[in-house]
Amino acid sequence: MNSADVRALKDLLSTPKKIAVVPHKNPDGDAIGAALALYHFLNLKGHNTRVISPNDYPEFLKWMPGTDSVLNFEKQESMASDLLKRSDLIFTVDFNDLTRVGDMYETLKGLQSPFVMIDHHQSPADYATVMYSDPAMSSTCEMVFHTLDALGEKGSISSQIADCLYAGILTDTGSFKYASTSSETHRVAAFLMEKGARSSEIHRLIFDTNTPSRLHLLGCALNNMVILEEYNTAYITLSQDELDQYQFRKGDTEGFVNYGLTLAGIRMAVIFIENRDEGIIKISFRSVGDFSVNEFARSYFNGGGHTNAAGGRSEQTLEETVAYFRSLVKKHKNQLTT
Ligand code: 5GP
Ligand code: MN
Repeated sequence: MNSADVRALKDLLSTPKKIAVVPHKNPDGDAIGAALALYHFLNLKGHNTRVISPNDYPEFLKWMPGTDSVLNFEKQESMASDLLKRSDLIFTVDFNDLTRVGDMYETLKGLQSPFVMIDHHQSPADYATVMYSDPAMSSTCEMVFHTLDALGEKGSISSQIADCLYAGILTDTGSFKYASTSSETHRVAAFLMEKGARSSEIHRLIFDTNTPSRLHLLGCALNNMVILEEYNTAYITLSQDELDQYQFRKGDTEGFVNYGLTLAGIRMAVIFIENRDEGIIKISFRSVGDFSVNEFARSYFNGGGHTNAAGGRSEQTLEETVAYFRSLVKKHKNQLTT
């Protein structure tokens, strides 16, 4: 965060405020971890803070300290709307454009209060008074740590804040595996452990809470995987019928897309998941190396994200979406094979 933004943020926080902290729709560990870490910190500093999530998030994140206080806009719309309208300050975390909050967008765009953006996605939109955007960062949680550091508040990091931040760094770096993991990421993680983050326990709480039906769904997904060897690409499909067959619950497909990338030589891995309720196919893209799935998702699937991890959607059928995708892969053969 640059020094002008640090001054502006200090100024905004110099008197007690009503603050809303907002993660993106379908929040992941990084989004909800960053939001809850800010919630604990800001309340500790005498502000009146609430996290307002656009919708629900997976059970495997619900051990996080403060999770019971999170408002769900989809389920508690009038209370959440009121709170947003009465807030003096809004933090948005882990997203770069107000449209990423789904139906909550209509409420957010009408607010007069200042926004603070903390985010690591490319091409940030221009809505925030204080904008801390850095696509080189491993995670928004790492950036929340740097924000507290810049405010001279490292000493205020409690074990609860440390748990939340550690969880977000862990999930967004694929357990410190992705290229976005820097030596500084490790230093931050080490500091958080010293402040009480339960690293091994957190890993277990997030990754070792499978249900038998989720593992069977993974089996189905892996069975459905198509490998386009000629294009160094692998993709998985899951239809709504298949999800129903294995009692799909929110979060169950988290990480499935990464299996494609474990194949030697694969440059791009994709998963297409049918959502009959929303009438869309939700798509996750992953890549290794230079191939930008951010650009790919942005250009063809109304989405975006990072160079090596992005998401998007299609309003066509699963079959039509896959056929379109296969035509695009052909078109990008050069980039995927050289
Ligand atoms: P995932 O595939 O795990 O849902 O998301 C991967 C990355 O892409 C995350 O950083 C996420 O915020 C971003 N992302 C996922 N879906 C969308 C989308 O529909 N639009 C945009 N702009 N980004 C997305
Ligand atoms: Mn993130």
